[in-house]
Amino acid sequence: MPVDARRFAPLLCALAATTALAQPRPPPGGPPRAPPREITQIARDLYRANNGNWYTIFLVTQDGILLGDPINVDFAAWLKGELDSRFAGKPVRYVVYSHSHFDHAEGGRAFAATATFVAHENMLRNMDGRYPQMPGDMIDRNGNGVIDPDEIAIPTNTRPGVCGMSNNWFATRDYDHDGKIPPQELQRDIVRPSVVYSERMRIELGGQVVELVHPGLNHSDDATVMLFPAQRVLFATEFLADALVTTDIHSLPSACGPFDGSPLAEWIKSYKTVEALDFDVVAPGHGAVFPKSGVTETREYFEDLVAAVSAGMAAGRSLEQLRQSVTLDKYRGWKNYDRLRTYNVEAAYRNLQLYR
Ligand SMILES: [Zn+2]
Repeated sequence: MPVDARRFAPLLCALAATTALAQPRPPPGGPPRAPPREITQIARDLYRANNGNWYTIFLVTQDGILLGDPINVDFAAWLKGELDSRFAGKPVRYVVYSHSHFDHAEGGRAFAATATFVAHENMLRNMDGRYPQMPGDMIDRNGNGVIDPDEIAIPTNTRPGVCGMSNNWFATRDYDHDGKIPPQELQRDIVRPSVVYSERMRIELGGQVVELVHPGLNHSDDATVMLFPAQRVLFATEFLADALVTTDIHSLPSACGPFDGSPLAEWIKSYKTVEALDFDVVAPGHGAVFPKSGVTETREYFEDLVAAVSAGMAAGRSLEQLRQSVTLDKYRGWKNYDRLRTYNVEAAYRNLQLYR
């Protein structure tokens, strides 16, 4: 049954608002309040679950459950309890990672007794002890192989609320308080995938089918999109709708670093790979369900950005001149236009210099 995204989105918002109101504020100094969490059915046997604006997906079959990202330890524990009570103890048979970044991939241990963990093969590279590909321009600036405070603080302070993390993130993740976060410490709550694939993979469970597709390089270098053919739903995180997207897919991308270190041609290829799949709506890792046309519109945004910045570079314009002249007028009505337009121009400029 196709989902009508236009009818569905306001429902989700209403549910989230209800939950937020229902949770009492903790006393000062008490434990932090959990983000709003909900489980919502979006198609036959297919459900979304969210931890604030971080979303996962799961398919319930007669032989068990196939789950997308576990998101984090607290959320996964909550979700495990919900699945046990709502679905009569059906086990989670598969956990499929959308990509390796900690803010989506943590928490899988809650399902490790019954589940096989599946990911794109590059996730193993990102968990082999070397500095992983990271979101939000949190790169290894000094090349020492561990995350240092500056490597979080620089993007966090340069683009607050867009790149990097929050200001106290480093302290809460430096579990042993030694002033650095080696990859193993960053990833201590991520269960390593035991099954990986390179291009495509098909999983059958309880008479249902899920197709895994690696779209190419984009926000991450180990992305998987999950296609649910019978439900005509696609699950994808970040590169179709990043963490700034809430209710409207028409939103300028965060554009951290030179677009997360992936060539813009690969970003566009990733969108086209998704467009070639047969489905009606995207259930994204952030924000509301949106129709497939949103994928095309966002791909066109990237193409327009590349065309405008490339033309300016070919004409010998400086980055400062491009910041002024590349106004992307067609996208003035998109969310975050005023906040992110010049970031997008700069990120594209740097990207096209690196990967020309
Ligand atoms: Zn990510």
